[in-house]
Amino acid sequence: MEDLQPITLEGIVPQKPLLIAGPCSAETEEQVIQTATELAANGVKIFRAGIWKPRTKPGGFEGVGVEGLQWLKKVKELTGMYTSTEVATKQHVEAALEAGVDLLWIGARTSANPFAMQEIADALQEAGADVPVLIKNPVNPDLELWIGAMQRIYNAGIKRIGAIHRGFSAYGKHLYRNLPQWHIPIELRRRMPNLPIICDPSHIGGKRELVAPISQQALDMGFDGLIIESHCDPDCAWSDKSQQVTPDVLNFIVNTLVLRDESHTTESLTLLRQQIDTLDNELLEVLNKRMRVSREIGQYKKEHRMPVLQAGRYDDIIQSRVKLAMEMGMSSDFMKSVLAAIHEESVRQQIEILNNRK
Ligand code: PEP
Ligand code: MN
Repeated sequence: MEDLQPITLEGIVPQKPLLIAGPCSAETEEQVIQTATELAANGVKIFRAGIWKPRTKPGGFEGVGVEGLQWLKKVKELTGMYTSTEVATKQHVEAALEAGVDLLWIGARTSANPFAMQEIADALQEAGADVPVLIKNPVNPDLELWIGAMQRIYNAGIKRIGAIHRGFSAYGKHLYRNLPQWHIPIELRRRMPNLPIICDPSHIGGKRELVAPISQQALDMGFDGLIIESHCDPDCAWSDKSQQVTPDVLNFIVNTLVLRDESHTTESLTLLRQQIDTLDNELLEVLNKRMRVSREIGQYKKEHRMPVLQAGRYDDIIQSRVKLAMEMGMSSDFMKSVLAAIHEESVRQQIEILNNRK
């Protein structure tokens, strides 16, 4: 995926950050037009609305279907905004392209399914489509599956591809509706630096009050845009009511966001980065020294027929180090994962010594 292109739509984008806003679902023509008019008045350029809604259980509102595409056409005529919707099948792709939808996105339940992704890719290719396609992360935290979904779209000849980070499902109650697991989009950025990554704070947070902080966090990490659910009357929305904000609140949120110019590398930043490089080298040397000592312990255990795993000792290490780390201002979770990784490698090396017959 070398020759990816930015998410341009003639005349307006690249916008930094790219902003897509609109209701979770198109419900009625009035709701769509009113929301779109208010968003356009606040400067939003790309409108979103779900026409086909993937619902967890049957019986809920499953979207208005093709009828809603005509409302999107009206939005375009009345406001000049570009329009976008979610597609999940060949029929959706054909109908959306036919109706002149400018940008398509693929939902999290669909990107988790390679058969569905291939069907969509084939439909785009057959139609000779040249629209930007944004691919949400699959519901499960599987980066390879996400990349694979994007590769299928890319192989269908689509060059304006973007990723949408909408968080990952987890069992039980959490602060977030979908856990952000920021390290996954960060790893995606490392692997594919040219790929635009857009954050969906509405589906990550699941609550209105989390939209602003999650958006800011995404911008701080250099995300390229935001897709935010906005409804003219959120409390009466037919889907995702607790996470939608009015166009005015959206405008307020967007105006409070601080944009950081990531490409601005000052001299002091270079110096700080040099310090990080040096510290990382020191860290590696200390780790290596620790492993050497650990191997000597392994040798001792072998000679004295002691088992490698000494649970009590490991527990003492965790308790004392975590306490120290917290006093230094680091989180206990962070320290626990670092220690777990070090211990795992230590045990692996000691077992190697044990198995060494010499
Ligand atoms: C949506 O964007 O309304 C939607 C259904 O999102 P997701 O696929 O992220 O659950
Ligand atoms: Mn939604």
